[in-house]
Amino acid sequence: MRFSHAGSAVKTPVIAWFRRNLRLTDNEPLRVALATGQPLVAVYVHDPAHPVGGASAWWLHHSLAGLDRALRGLGGSLIIRRGDSASELCELVARTGADHVTYARRYEPFARREEDALRAQLPEHVSVTGCDDGVLSPPHRVMTRTGTRYKVFTPYWKAAVALGEPPLPQPAPAAIAFAEVDHSLHVDELRLLPTAPDWSQGLQATWHPGEDGALTQLDVAAAGAHAYASQRDRPDLDVTSRLSPHLHFGEVSPRQAWHALRSVASNSSGSQGAEALIRQLYWREFSTYLLFHFPRLPEEPLRPEFEHFPWTNDSTALEAWQTGTTGYPLIDAGMRQLWQTGWMHNRVRMIAASFLVKNLMIDWQTGADWFLDTLVDADLANNSAGWQWVAGCGTDAAPYFRIFNPILQSAKFDPEGNYIRRFVPELSELPTGTIHEPWKADGMTLEPANMRIGVDYPAPIVDLGDSRKRALEAYRHVRGMLQSGPDRPGSSAG
Ligand code: FAD
Repeated sequence: MRFSHAGSAVKTPVIAWFRRNLRLTDNEPLRVALATGQPLVAVYVHDPAHPVGGASAWWLHHSLAGLDRALRGLGGSLIIRRGDSASELCELVARTGADHVTYARRYEPFARREEDALRAQLPEHVSVTGCDDGVLSPPHRVMTRTGTRYKVFTPYWKAAVALGEPPLPQPAPAAIAFAEVDHSLHVDELRLLPTAPDWSQGLQATWHPGEDGALTQLDVAAAGAHAYASQRDRPDLDVTSRLSPHLHFGEVSPRQAWHALRSVASNSSGSQGAEALIRQLYWREFSTYLLFHFPRLPEEPLRPEFEHFPWTNDSTALEAWQTGTTGYPLIDAGMRQLWQTGWMHNRVRMIAASFLVKNLMIDWQTGADWFLDTLVDADLANNSAGWQWVAGCGTDAAPYFRIFNPILQSAKFDPEGNYIRRFVPELSELPTGTIHEPWKADGMTLEPANMRIGVDYPAPIVDLGDSRKRALEAYRHVRGMLQSGPDRPGSSAG
């Protein structure tokens, strides 16, 4: 209890530190803070030492603005600070006299250091509650019978599911008593939006960041879940949930997603699709788990032989991949979808990533960096695990010698070429029979479609057969080194 200047008793505030839990519904740290009965300080700290990619920054701006609006609707606001999280929170504690800080745990190495720093720097009388709010199964709780870490998805998944159903989601608070805090930045001052130039039109046309958008998207995903099991690999059909950025920013909790899908799964007509989607939620859990237990996941291959892989440094090929001008229509469609909308269909992510790592032999981390900058759902855990899986250097990865053929994949998963037509308009007039390999079409086909290969659309930048052979030789070489070499590098995979 403190006293105001007028001498009346003022209740000591509690601070809810919002991180990747930018919502009011089913928000455990917020619930814990409000359960104290103390007036609330809701704060977000933006630390420029940990910048986010361009597309994520755009999303974050809108998500923060949405959360601030929702808090204003309840008579308060979101206090926004910039700087080192622990220092800013300690300053806020000193300014407000708060005696309790709650937050949602994060599992990235830098975020765990933030939490340690906060606990170390706060005065002793201030209590701290960290909640495992962003996952269904906290990573430290899923261990093998002998107490070791899982490295393979299926046994991990079974063990995580065996922990039991996630708790039912909690409703958003109907009312909140706020503490008065006079010092906050406006979200615009974080300068998260692109200005010169503003390239965000495609993102704006595609997404509705914020809790309202997330809840709508969850309804859409649950209603469409029946098609997921059979059609999820079809980028032309758009049947996946598109929940990834909402889950990343915590605009919806995985518990909300799990329960919404579970109720669809209980209804036999949608059960298979909803079950398959629930399983995907556990791939997200598994990536977080891997990052928690193998904190060097973003920068180190988990399989030691890849430390010596002879990656090439071909900036022209890299640029063609980034700009969607490789001459392989499905890859170009995916890379342009990414550039325009900040998102790419999962199967196309796998094919485009495989092309970079295997056909162009460019380091997976270069691809991962590009994704982190351009994806609205850029997520250190999911992205690093996804790239290591594709490159074959992860713990539970596609073997290196399994190389996606972008032509066969295109014919199989975009059979009419509609996905290609949507994102590579210069190919839109081509007949379906040639759209997957336009360079093979003769003049009679290309001319009516106004297409000249090498002029209107590039010729393939590499030959698939030759590049495949080159990649496999390089892989055999590093494997040979590993088997014969005495100075094998230490594996971080434990
Ligand atoms: P749905 O298929 O509807 O799945 C539902 C949810 O499950 C997703 O929103 C996501 O949270 C989770 N999920 C689905 N598949 C995976 C997966 N393979 N790994 C982890 N979680 C999964 N996902 C990201 O969220 N951020 C990333 O930065 C990211 N980078 C990737 C990079 C590569 C090279 C690859 C191959 C995959 C990557 N993924 C990433 C995983 C996956 O592609 C996306 O989660 C998915 O495409 C998002 O679309 P959706 O929400 O419609 O997914």
